[in-house]
Amino acid sequence: MNFPIYETEARGILSKTTGFIQAAGFTHSLTPARNCTFGCSYCYVPTMGIYGGLKPDDVKKWGQFTTYKSNAAALLAKALKPDQRIYCSPVVDPYQPTEEQQQMMPRILDALIRKPPRVFTIQTRGTLILRDIDPIRELATRTRVNVSFSVTTDDNEIIRVYENRCAKFEERLSVLEALTAAGINTFATIAPMLPCNPRRLVEGVVKVTTGPIICDPFHVRETKSNGATTRDAARAIANHHGHQQWFEPAFHQRIIDEMKSIAPRPFEVGPKAFAWLAI
Ligand code: SF4
Repeated sequence: MNFPIYETEARGILSKTTGFIQAAGFTHSLTPARNCTFGCSYCYVPTMGIYGGLKPDDVKKWGQFTTYKSNAAALLAKALKPDQRIYCSPVVDPYQPTEEQQQMMPRILDALIRKPPRVFTIQTRGTLILRDIDPIRELATRTRVNVSFSVTTDDNEIIRVYENRCAKFEERLSVLEALTAAGINTFATIAPMLPCNPRRLVEGVVKVTTGPIICDPFHVRETKSNGATTRDAARAIANHHGHQQWFEPAFHQRIIDEMKSIAPRPFEVGPKAFAWLAI
């Protein structure tokens, strides 16, 4: 996959948190790029528009290109403080496909190793994270590092239709297994909760992670009247494939209750669950 990559000089790199991520306990978020070339059909970020730091072209062509903050590591080196709890990132995957060429994360990890914050949490679904396992392990000797890896379903056909640039279920489990074996704190994040076999999914992630399980169903207007929400593209896919019930709050609750009853360790939803990543 080759996507156009642009660069820009940013004025800052750490943003004070608000909303969901602030409620979870993070003080700052770190976003190395604008627009995410995973381009998931349900991604809530383009529905945030300028409030997600996006330009009109990012919204119109979500997932078709990306723009890196070329001075991110230099800005970070100046902005880091020991009491920060940093989430990377609420609006882009730091290991999106273009990271392979851009190699931004090794520079960011290097800055973090030199001046570690209180907590650094990587939110990703990118198997490319394994490239950086050594610096992540090094950072973990100096501060609390959490890797929250998105495992949205156990069904590879569902992955193909909703998030076709993302790794298959088994590959994601192997990445988590390798990170856990390297001594890194690992969490499976079932977010968004896509159509799945709840038992197979929960039993699969429990074997390869160390932390509690985090879940978040599709955001829908019935339960969230404003702010970021699921893209229309995912609704269209759900309608086409007969998955409409996966957008219904009562159905969400049934599946969540089922997953909770299967999980042999804590399992939570929303900010309460993401709070585990801030400590
Ligand atoms: S990986 Fe995350 S940020 Fe990127 S498109 Fe998918 S949901 Fe959006």
